[in-house]
Amino acid sequence: MNKKNLSESKDEFQESLLKWFEEHQRKLPWRGVQDPYLIWVSEVMLQQTQVIKVIDYYQKFIERFPNVQQLAAAPLQDVLKVWEGLGYYARARNLHKAAVTVITELDGEIPKEYDTFRKLSGVGDYSAAAVLSIAFDQPYAAVDGNIKRVLSRLYQLEAPVNDASSTKVFQQHADELLDRQRPGLFNQAMMELGATICRPQSPTCLVCPVKTYCEVFHKSSQSEYPKRRTTKAIPEHQMVAAVIYRESKVLLIQRPLDGLLGGLWEFPNGRLTEDETSEKGCFRIINETVNVSISNLQYLTRVKHAFTHYKIVVDVFQCDYVSGEVVLDGPIDAKWVDVTEVSGYPLPRATHKFLEQSPL
Ligand code: SF4
Repeated sequence: MNKKNLSESKDEFQESLLKWFEEHQRKLPWRGVQDPYLIWVSEVMLQQTQVIKVIDYYQKFIERFPNVQQLAAAPLQDVLKVWEGLGYYARARNLHKAAVTVITELDGEIPKEYDTFRKLSGVGDYSAAAVLSIAFDQPYAAVDGNIKRVLSRLYQLEAPVNDASSTKVFQQHADELLDRQRPGLFNQAMMELGATICRPQSPTCLVCPVKTYCEVFHKSSQSEYPKRRTTKAIPEHQMVAAVIYRESKVLLIQRPLDGLLGGLWEFPNGRLTEDETSEKGCFRIINETVNVSISNLQYLTRVKHAFTHYKIVVDVFQCDYVSGEVVLDGPIDAKWVDVTEVSGYPLPRATHKFLEQSPL
């Protein structure tokens, strides 16, 4: 099979891709939807999260907040609770904040103009292009991880996909290929191709609808692309957490709104210093974060969890409250919560892992 030049055969490439998409796309709850709010929710959830995981969360979210008005009117705690387990909680906080802006400053209408939409909280170049092209057929090329991989292989690009300095290169190629008559379908088709055919490992090139145009397919160099910048090993942090009992209640603290896992509730916790034992560190961390006196410290279990840039190993203890008013250093709120009500709070995944391993 002779390779066709992509720049000269752009129309044919678009036809092949869109025909394949029409026939082979997966049935997903947000497909075929025109409501910009629903498209926006799905795109935010899909960032850094696999489709299979998003489906249930998406359905639960739109059932609870079916439109931008209801999302804006809801307390942030309710939004975080529905988002709980999906990770990257800044996405939920930003979506909520943006919904409030739409209601209070934009007459309740999700903006069609790129610059206005792009300014909303949490909206980046990718989400702006994806939402505006899918909802309003605006000619913006979306570039996410899947699309970068496809472009890297189609054009045999040397630019590393995980380097910010490559963004321009991928955007230029995506802009060049975009079907300006059907930008929403085109963007979705490119994402679908990356997710189902041009996968990171072992792309199924023989059934790929655009193999005729693909540089690496013709050179059999699929496994060498995309190029990646080598990254440092992921560090592991040793931590402790304490379940402090006060009769039938336990102490929960709330994380600051603007950081990692912002706004979620958890047991008092912190990082161990070098050479510090878990037990000794637990006393110190209770003292530093909530400043209450405790007794009967007992080891419960060990929980491991991985974030994008580091891993944590948490030794969890239980103990009894003895005395003292809670004085916070770090957390923004604290509550003595009945053990039966803990699961009603939005909790990080690591806390859920602990509760699964060692129920209260
Ligand atoms: Fe990806 Fe293979 Fe298709 Fe090229 S031919 S775009 S490497 S699946």
